[in-house]
Amino acid sequence: MTPLETRSQDVETTRKIAGVVAGLTTAGDVILLDGDLGAGKTTFTQGFAKQLGVTEPVTSPTFTLVRRYPTSAGFDLYHADLYRLDQLNEVADLGLNELLDEGAAAVIEWGEKGAPALGPDHLSIQLRMAGEDAGERLLTFSSPGGSWAGRWNELEKRLP
Ligand code: ADP
Ligand code: MG
Repeated sequence: MTPLETRSQDVETTRKIAGVVAGLTTAGDVILLDGDLGAGKTTFTQGFAKQLGVTEPVTSPTFTLVRRYPTSAGFDLYHADLYRLDQLNEVADLGLNELLDEGAAAVIEWGEKGAPALGPDHLSIQLRMAGEDAGERLLTFSSPGGSWAGRWNELEKRLP
């Protein structure tokens, strides 16, 4: 699948893009977010959670590493932040794979750190500061593994 790219000019657009992704997400999906501090990973997660009907405020789970939110989409959402993760085996300790097997979906900030422990099939989103405007972000979507192949055209169509 060819990587997809889209631009966001502000927080609201990033949340809207996240809502598009959430609308195509099903139980068992793993979404890895990568990009520098302040790139918008938590902002993205907030838009993602909102689309799934999460009513609790979503904040960065840096100190707990992972938080669980019930949604109105028929599956729970796990939000993890691996920034403080030192060793790959800590990802295994989080038990995310087991949680996903139980039919949840996961959004993981600094996901590349955990990718080797999470399996090859996921949606990976890179967020980058782009352009001269402080609010501009470039989002690049790629997906190793086949789980998004059937949704790729639809994702492309729906992205702003
Ligand atoms: P991260 O989780 O990647 O460290 P956050 O989402 O916590 O990033 O923070 C992103 C910061 O950048 C926020 O202060 C937000 O207001 C700001 N920002 C400005 N423009 C954007 C944009 N287009 N998308 C997301 N965040 C933006
Ligand atoms: Mg964050």
